Amino acid sequence: MTVKFWRDDCDDKVFFVELANPPVNAINLAVRQGLHDAMLAIQATTGLERVMLIGSETIFAAGGDAREFDAPPIAPHLPDVLAMIEVSDIPWVAVINGAALGGGLELALACRYRIASPKAQLGLPEVLLGIVPGAGGTQRLPRLIGFAAALEMITSGKSISAKAGIEVGLLDLIDADPMQAARAITPADLAAARPVRQLPNPKLDEAVLAKSNTGLTRRAKGQIAPVKATELVSLTSHTNFAEGMAAERDCFLALRQSEQAKALRHLFFAERGAKAPAALANHMPKIINQAVVVGGGTMGSGIAHALVRAGITTVTIETNEAAAKQAAERAESLIEAGVKRGLIGAQKVDEMRSCYSVSTEFASAANAQIAIEAVFEDIAVKITVFQKLQEVMSANAILASNTSYLDINVIAAALDDPSRLIGLHFFVPAHIMKLLEIIKGDASAPTALACGFRLAKQLGKIPVVAGVCDGFIGNRILARYREAADLLLLHGATPSQIDKAMTGFGYAMGPYEAQDMSGLDIAFANRRRQDASRDPNRTYVQIADKMVEAGRLGRKTGLGWYSYANDGKAATDPLVDALIVAEADHAGITRRHFSDDDIVKRLVLAMINEGANILFEAIAQNASDIDLVSVLGYGFPRWRGGLMHYADQLGMAAILAGLKDVLAEDPHIWQPSQLILDAVKTKSDFASFKN
Ligand code: NAD
Repeated sequence: MTVKFWRDDCDDKVFFVELANPPVNAINLAVRQGLHDAMLAIQATTGLERVMLIGSETIFAAGGDAREFDAPPIAPHLPDVLAMIEVSDIPWVAVINGAALGGGLELALACRYRIASPKAQLGLPEVLLGIVPGAGGTQRLPRLIGFAAALEMITSGKSISAKAGIEVGLLDLIDADPMQAARAITPADLAAARPVRQLPNPKLDEAVLAKSNTGLTRRAKGQIAPVKATELVSLTSHTNFAEGMAAERDCFLALRQSEQAKALRHLFFAERGAKAPAALANHMPKIINQAVVVGGGTMGSGIAHALVRAGITTVTIETNEAAAKQAAERAESLIEAGVKRGLIGAQKVDEMRSCYSVSTEFASAANAQIAIEAVFEDIAVKITVFQKLQEVMSANAILASNTSYLDINVIAAALDDPSRLIGLHFFVPAHIMKLLEIIKGDASAPTALACGFRLAKQLGKIPVVAGVCDGFIGNRILARYREAADLLLLHGATPSQIDKAMTGFGYAMGPYEAQDMSGLDIAFANRRRQDASRDPNRTYVQIADKMVEAGRLGRKTGLGWYSYANDGKAATDPLVDALIVAEADHAGITRRHFSDDDIVKRLVLAMINEGANILFEAIAQNASDIDLVSVLGYGFPRWRGGLMHYADQLGMAAILAGLKDVLAEDPHIWQPSQLILDAVKTKSDFASFKN
């Protein structure tokens, strides 16, 4: 029974309807049917005064069941069920414990009264799945809380707290015991509460609308759902409820089948599916509560912050007192930043401070269950660190390197027990970025991998396993993206043109703006490391090296691919153009024009081809892992579903044709992956490829 209903034993004027579809009370066909049946039971019962709609102790309802979205809708449809509830002779009261999201909030909006516990979260996150609310959310919410507040909630998809819910008028009451409060509503108050559909049309605020639209062009560029949601919310100012509902339903059904919604659903399920394989279940540590981080620089400080925030006692080891002091200061400033942004409360600050320390002694690692090394990207330095760690730590403790590129197998070979080493590749800023690449070395033991997965779970990260290669999944693809961009520079494009083309595709930043942001010196140092092993037949574009040699390291030096004014504004720089032209002349290349489409095509094909190689070489387990890496770590537009999902939309034959179009320009760089050649023959796609 996904919906239970009964007449109250103590007070026969009260009827209970309970959503009972664990774990999140997703509203699927069975729940819709159950609510419908409950309504019929209520109609058949005399002497009732109120219906209490309740969820579980921790959740009201987290929304429609996204697994049903690919199939045709089946009656009873949610809008019809909610219409029955809303105009019921016996008023329904929503008793909200925990989250009421999407269809869950729409259900609450159809009730006559909404009472929540202080921990409740309220939101309509549908746009994040490429759709609009489909059961009256866009029509009831603006009538209840006004145009501005509803537009913000619906177009952002963000949820609000119970406190904010009271302030905007979404809730009638907050109470630590919402059930008791719901019983206490007087019959007069209940009778006075009007169904939301009968409330007057909200007034459209042109200034709010314009500001919202400007915001959307910036943060949701290319996305259809927020635009459609805006239109639907705007409708409430001048159409009647029934017309608005009809428009919403049409829009919802059309968007459900859209490419964007499918792409976003794909990522939604990929994120939920990213967890430890069943084979590791028996090796999983119960909980990690003590860790050591070696190196308290950019990455180490972010990792340590993530650890202490998750309640893990952490010590950071640095080389000397001065560096340790700096690490402590970084830790403190991250806490302060979290407090400022309202993410960390006063009590949590004390907890975090009390479980964090810095040290210059490796002996302080003795009790940790896991060590995460985040020292300089130098294999000799890293090996020394791990050798010191193995001397002081228990034989069961796991060792992890945050290396971006280095060979985990080489590091492991220098340890007494290579099986205890894995890579844990965090992304900057490590306390914010959701992705965690878990690098599986040839010798990595199941216990070590399981520990990586456990840590990911405790930190709220999305884990993706990668095999050993230069750059693992993400940085290896990034290298090909940058290579294709640099080739375009040489042959005629400019950094700003490439950046514009890629932001047009959906990236928040193009490759050159991004390099200026992170600093050109890191990639430069990495290229020097790769000099000895680079394939001599592969074209090597030297422009980025020349930039670094000219002291243009990016934003931090005020000069990079762009020049930066004091206010941080970027401007194109003729000196960069001259440097590019000089390199092209030197290579005897006649530069030519590339359209934005040419640029996008080359950069995306280069990444897809490398993604295919990564699958073919079993560096990634499956295509959706590459999707997660591309979106969560490298800014590939989420609404395109990730690199390989997008590739499957293009189709394998079109990808091969695209690579062949440019093959003559550089047969080495554009050599199609064997996986693509095979897949065209067998008519298969990336999604069905499994290692
Ligand atoms: P960083 O230079 O900011 O910090 C390195 C820290 O390690 C310094 O504080 C240094 O004092 C300390 N250190 C060096 N040798 C040490 C030793 N023997 N014992 C203890 N401490 C030592 O570097 P970072 O950017 O934080 O990078 C650290 C690692 O993380 C590198 O392997 C890097 O490739 C990797 N990484 C970096 C990024 C990034 O974007 N910065 C992203 C992912 C991974």
